[in-house]
Amino acid sequence: MQDAAPLLREIFGFDAFRPGQAEIVDAVAQGRDTLAIMPTGGGKSLCYQLPALMDDGVTVVISPLIALMRDQVRALREAGVEAGALTSGNTPEETDAVWAAIEDGRLKLLYLAPERLASEGTVRMLRRIGVTRIAVDEAHCVSQWGHDFRPDYLRIGQLRDALDVPVAAFTATADAETRDEIVTRLFRGVQPETFLRGFDRPNIHLAFGAKDSPRRQILDFAAARRGRSGIVYCGTRAKTETLAQALREDGHSAIHYHGGMDPEDRRIAEARFSREDGLIVVATVAFGMGVDKPDIRWVAHADLPKSIEAYYQEIGRAGRDGAPAETLTLFGPEDIRLRRSQIDEGLAPPERRAADHARLNALLGLAEALECRRARLLRYFGETEVTCGNCDLCDTPVETFDATEAVRKALSAILRTEEWFGAGHLTDILTGTTTDKITQRRHDQLPTFGVGQEFNRRQWSAIFRQMLGHDLVRPNPDRHGALTMTEAARPILRGEDTILMRKDSLAAGKDRRPAVK
Ligand code: ADP
Ligand code: ZN
Repeated sequence: MQDAAPLLREIFGFDAFRPGQAEIVDAVAQGRDTLAIMPTGGGKSLCYQLPALMDDGVTVVISPLIALMRDQVRALREAGVEAGALTSGNTPEETDAVWAAIEDGRLKLLYLAPERLASEGTVRMLRRIGVTRIAVDEAHCVSQWGHDFRPDYLRIGQLRDALDVPVAAFTATADAETRDEIVTRLFRGVQPETFLRGFDRPNIHLAFGAKDSPRRQILDFAAARRGRSGIVYCGTRAKTETLAQALREDGHSAIHYHGGMDPEDRRIAEARFSREDGLIVVATVAFGMGVDKPDIRWVAHADLPKSIEAYYQEIGRAGRDGAPAETLTLFGPEDIRLRRSQIDEGLAPPERRAADHARLNALLGLAEALECRRARLLRYFGETEVTCGNCDLCDTPVETFDATEAVRKALSAILRTEEWFGAGHLTDILTGTTTDKITQRRHDQLPTFGVGQEFNRRQWSAIFRQMLGHDLVRPNPDRHGALTMTEAARPILRGEDTILMRKDSLAAGKDRRPAVK
């Protein structure tokens, strides 16, 4: 077997491995079943390309992305490596050339589109040609509840059995459920050697803020970074336009971007952003895929992203050059309600919806975190050794208070009104505020009426927000967002568990809204 280091230099032109690559290359080259989880751009392809050159035989690479396969094949061939792809994008000549290389025993890497695995002929051919290993790119495509599910990926397990060769699987999706599905489906339940590396982006400062006056908060954040390129992500197309306008009125150079714009305008916006220094793009999540600008200095979320994975990907667009970059993610009860209803009203099967709620919960947990956000974020992705000192909670530790009693009072108000009301009316009950609705429904007769007067409306609103964030209550989509208690709240209600909450939004103490009469 050839050594890795000289090949790394001579074929790929790199001086050193990136974090994690050396160990993964080693495991793959040794013929061990391997699962490698690395963020996008972390350098996964090298981890199967290099071992392919170290020994005899063919490495089969399965990838769902035809353009990416063609790209890699082209780059490998330019470096003098015999590689070919069998995909629906081939011309007949290309396919003939690949077959000829296979027949001569010259081919080192054979890229296959997953659909190919449905053909008996392909599997017969693979049996014949001396396959050393199967490398699976975007391995999360095997997950039925994921967003990129590819039914043909389920055939990879069968191919592994038929060829009796090791599998090296690669993905950037790190949540535990997806990982379990990969192990079950691709490795037939045999635990592969698992590597998880490189998710930390230490130069990115992490911060969250409860929505208070959201437009003001974004304008202030941008004003403190005047002249530096940034992205503001918004939940709706309309908001990208109004917020870009507000930023321009505030003296910034700002443009909007969303999926409803025609392709030419989008292309122009992307080009301007790459070229111009200090431009702000106010965008929906449609912006980002094609953007490879290394010196984006900040990313702000005017609305909460849809999951912890989406959050990670979106803030990850900042500071690719390694220089300091800053982020701010705003969130409020309305975001939580919207994100929950998007999941509930989607067409996904129930299991997938449950997984989506879990991914949203992970993000809400991060938003309401009491200690280091980076540690929590990376723990979600499976990394345990984290040093930070670069997040808002490391900068200024939050003050907490024991919210167990408050939560129990709120839950009691919810249950005694049979889960038919939202936070506003519940707050009226808790604070003992007599409104028409209260009188009509005789809620002033409830034992819970007025038991929460130690907090004002604003403070109750922060408590309800944190209850949503901790998934103790959920808005019921069939009851106009009335709050329903979740199973997670039961131990607190029963007095078997306690809960700490952030004091910060309470400490502000000021009740801006006049009491409702
Ligand atoms: P992924 O598939 O993980 O998203 P790629 O394999 O496409 O990432 O690699 C991302 C980029 O990093 C590529 O431009 C690749 O050439 C580069 N790269 C990979 N390994 C190294 C290395 N050891 N040193 C320098 N650059 C590397
Ligand atoms: Zn921290």
